[in-house]
Amino acid sequence: MPFLTEPEPQRGVPIFVLPGIRRVVARNPSVMTYQGTNTYLIEVDDGLVVLDPGPKDMEHVREVIEAAGSTPIRHIVLTHTHSDHWGAAAALAQATGAPVAGYKISEKPGFTPDLGLDHGEVIAGLTALHTPGHAADHLCFEHFLPDGTKILFSGDHVMSWSSSIVSPPDGDMLDYYRSLELLLARDEVFYLSGHGPLLADPRALVRELLAHRQFRERTILAELEQQDWVVAALSAKLYDKTDPFLKAAAQRNVLAHMLKLKAEGYVEEHEPDTTPHPDTLIITPPPGVQDESGGEFATMRADALRRFGMVAARA
Ligand SMILES: [Zn+2]
Repeated sequence: MPFLTEPEPQRGVPIFVLPGIRRVVARNPSVMTYQGTNTYLIEVDDGLVVLDPGPKDMEHVREVIEAAGSTPIRHIVLTHTHSDHWGAAAALAQATGAPVAGYKISEKPGFTPDLGLDHGEVIAGLTALHTPGHAADHLCFEHFLPDGTKILFSGDHVMSWSSSIVSPPDGDMLDYYRSLELLLARDEVFYLSGHGPLLADPRALVRELLAHRQFRERTILAELEQQDWVVAALSAKLYDKTDPFLKAAAQRNVLAHMLKLKAEGYVEEHEPDTTPHPDTLIITPPPGVQDESGGEFATMRADALRRFGMVAARA
């Protein structure tokens, strides 16, 4: 797929993106977060909106406040509550007094946004679009540049540098398809994603992302027509991943496809495989892995041993 790359951005300073928009890239690069989380500073009538405050890193919080300079930060807005986007919210809110806005139903235990947004609601000129799939509480935001150009803050739903992990139960493949279709019906000119550089001609990528998942789904169905499959084993067959984190991410995506096919009535779940599979044993996620892949490690390991097969043909 035509993903974009970029050299390591300068740390600790605001980088011009588009008129009225700068980003500060957090110091959390990894195989899942690319160069780090993008924290966007957006100029609005009465000051600045900070979209995705970033990970819980006081150095990053200080850099975002410095980047704002003498312009007051009026709102903190979240695309979703994964820790690499949400972690700095409390510290930044405390330092600035700005309220935190996010989807009305938070998936982060113990956290409720000060301003709960619903699909279609507007905050500081940004229109929220509920786009579950990568995360149940994911919002994209429509925004207009000073010259009237319409753009979208696409969070982790559509990223310029990589496809998104869909990790049940926070992630949901059926929702993800629907949220991609929602964007295909729209006409934003640029996407600014949670990780990676600006994306031009974004709907071409959205179409490819959807086609890629549909291809993957057909492949999984074809495999299941031959035999029942355990998630870890099928994932190892379909994805050639050696990095432990990417291996785990591949398993989460395969599980998400299985559960979508189950919800649609094609596939049923059988008793799990009780013997640990080599591809589940060697997965030792580095710190912070759960943030982007969802759930506890023990759950992920158990999920990897879940077994699925085609629904028995009705007589
Ligand atoms: Zn995320």
